[in-house]
Amino acid sequence: MNKNDILTIYGSNPTKMTKALLQSIDFALLIPNKKASIALKPNLVVAVTADSGATTHPEIAIAIIEHLQALGYMNISIVESAWIGDSTKEGFRINGYNQISDRFSVPLIDVKDDEYVKKTVGKVTMEVSKTILEADFLISLPVLKGHCQTSMTCALKNMKGCISDRSKRLFHTLGLHNPIATLNAVRCADLIIVDSLNGDLDFEEGGNPVETHRMFATTDSVLCDSYGSSLMGFELRDIPYIGFAEDLGVGSADLSKANVIQLNEPSDEEPAKPSGRVSYLAKHTEPISACSACYGNLIHALKRLDEVDRLDSVSVPICIGQGYKGIDDPTKVGVGICTKGLGKSLAGCPPKAIDMIAFLKKLNP
Ligand code: SF4
Repeated sequence: MNKNDILTIYGSNPTKMTKALLQSIDFALLIPNKKASIALKPNLVVAVTADSGATTHPEIAIAIIEHLQALGYMNISIVESAWIGDSTKEGFRINGYNQISDRFSVPLIDVKDDEYVKKTVGKVTMEVSKTILEADFLISLPVLKGHCQTSMTCALKNMKGCISDRSKRLFHTLGLHNPIATLNAVRCADLIIVDSLNGDLDFEEGGNPVETHRMFATTDSVLCDSYGSSLMGFELRDIPYIGFAEDLGVGSADLSKANVIQLNEPSDEEPAKPSGRVSYLAKHTEPISACSACYGNLIHALKRLDEVDRLDSVSVPICIGQGYKGIDDPTKVGVGICTKGLGKSLAGCPPKAIDMIAFLKKLNP
């Protein structure tokens, strides 16, 4: 797997999707020493299950452990800490990690109980988990989702679960962006497998999941977040920590050099009926058999337009989905290659949210 590769896969079965991604990764090259200590870092920021859109689907961790153990890697641990005020152990418990630990003999490390090593980059001094610093290989399993302070969270911000609660407080007083970048300059993931199945629309604690039925993998945390931000409809300037991390040499944000390898076609399973904060955005859509990746990207695009008071300019419902294949209607507007027969249509299968935003803005400049 090259540094600029991004493997993507669509579907709704995290076990099968993770296995397919793992089959495309040469672990003998990535981790030559079978005795290497390998840390898995899921996102269990709050003690809720993955259907909330906040936490990593545990099936992903299980599939990785099974794959690695079958290859002879036996020194694996699961490392995480919940945000301040929530219990990591409760997050482990309700997501079935205690059973995973017993079944595969994989220890669970609560970073809140770990020893810390002080690290300083620039003007930021932080206490970083000793287990994470000593791990030979770190596999991050972030959820791609919204965040109320940094707009988005994925690989770079997932590392915040690897520091002490005291350092988390410090990060907040420093505005998050710069310290997140510096933390990744101290230690970033060696491999990132992103759970983008149903990440939350705008809050890291979940509650408004948007089904996109997608996962992707890369070895570059900066590229990972740059790609993730485009899927959610953000410009790089909207997420300053990505650029800061690039400046510190953590990786490259340049998507023009990314090699996106799509392992299958988007799933044609209908997404769940939008609820909560997602439903008001859905009123601007006219889906017929829309793939969830496509539809989820449209929901994120509409959310970004709403944030800059441009949602009202979407004056007609946006057509989307495989049901528009073969339909010629000059009066309608659609996104995705399936709507190419409509009066105005955005190509792509699925188009990214960021491209949808540019297209929708041009409808009513
Ligand atoms: S363009 Fe059509 S086939 Fe492609 S993801 Fe969108 S709905 Fe699915």
